[in-house]
Amino acid sequence: ENYYAILAENQKLHNELQELKGNIRVYCRIRPFLAGQKEKQTIVEYVGENGELIIVNPSKQGKEGRRSFKFNKVYGQAATQAEVYLDTQPLIQSVLDGYNVCIFAYGQTGSGKTYTMTGPDRVSEEEWGVNYRALNDLFRISQNRESTFSYEISVQMVEIYNEQVRDLLSSDGLLNCVITIIFCFFLDLHTLGILSGSQPNGLAVPDASMYPVKATSDVLHLMNVGLKNRAKSSTALNERSSRSHSIVSIHVRGIDQKTGSSMQSSLHLVDLAGSERVDRSEVTGDRLKEAQHINKSLSALGDVISALAQKSPHVPYRNSKLTQVLQSSLGGNAKTLMFVQLNPEVNSHSESMSTLKFAERVSGVELGAAKSSK
Ligand code: ADP
Repeated sequence: ENYYAILAENQKLHNELQELKGNIRVYCRIRPFLAGQKEKQTIVEYVGENGELIIVNPSKQGKEGRRSFKFNKVYGQAATQAEVYLDTQPLIQSVLDGYNVCIFAYGQTGSGKTYTMTGPDRVSEEEWGVNYRALNDLFRISQNRESTFSYEISVQMVEIYNEQVRDLLSSDGLLNCVITIIFCFFLDLHTLGILSGSQPNGLAVPDASMYPVKATSDVLHLMNVGLKNRAKSSTALNERSSRSHSIVSIHVRGIDQKTGSSMQSSLHLVDLAGSERVDRSEVTGDRLKEAQHINKSLSALGDVISALAQKSPHVPYRNSKLTQVLQSSLGGNAKTLMFVQLNPEVNSHSESMSTLKFAERVSGVELGAAKSSK
């Protein structure tokens, strides 16, 4: 009950979100040192409640080695999953109000993207990431008996690897087919029939499989099927998952039982490929190609979001598969939240700086600051 009281208070943040320039929010999260890690020297000097962050380079003395940043929120190493979600929750309400919402996790491999989005490998309720909590809230709010709206919710899951989109819930292959058929048997087959005929316009992958869901557990089951499909294409799942983007899309259709008016919106949960730069002199062949595709798509995403934050008349959606696929859910009155993940270790200083510069660019702050200094 206490939790719901806090959520109600959160309405204030919700209102604040509505007024956001371009509806883009950037939250920065610093990963704690991991158990067994010897090095405790950190690049993080200050984390302010107002979203201020100061980073130091221990190998440079004085002013030169310090740099400050400002985001909508910064979470220090002690922040819990529940705290992080509290600031995300208003966006979930927005989905049921008819807004398209994209939530991204950006950062180098090992910086906590999957932890924030999903949680650790063996996840307890306390450690649930944004995905689980968002889905639970989505189903809870959509089943509110006082509302005159009735909702249908369905799920797609795709992976983008080397600029190719792959349907992770496709029923190709016997095993997947069996899993899917068994799964659908437990769902309402009628709903499936209705839904498979029409595509909400949230994700521009017209032929990616879509499944109706009635509860968080249905989505989690589908996500597991998706993860298994993802693993099949690679012997090392971790390697593959750090080099591809994964998108879980939740589509909502609602009809007001009283007035007959309808709404449609989507929530996209995007775990991006690792942003680490690859030393060109050290990699060749497939690895180089992967790295180039990742660079291209992450910088295209940065360009799109920063164009939206600047309210630029031209938004370059066509430059990557990632931005093409999410086009209808980025911009317009859609809302975007970017979790920027930082590894606090000293030897990650330069990688963390490039992550933060990306974050600064997408939050639209950098250009503003440059203008005022002229
Ligand atoms: P990424 O998805 O960016 O590659 P992970 O989410 O896999 O990174 O995080 C790397 C490791 O750090 C994992 O073992 C994860 O459980 C742990 N970790 C990340 N963030 C946190 C956190 N906030 N609290 C505790 N452990 C974390």
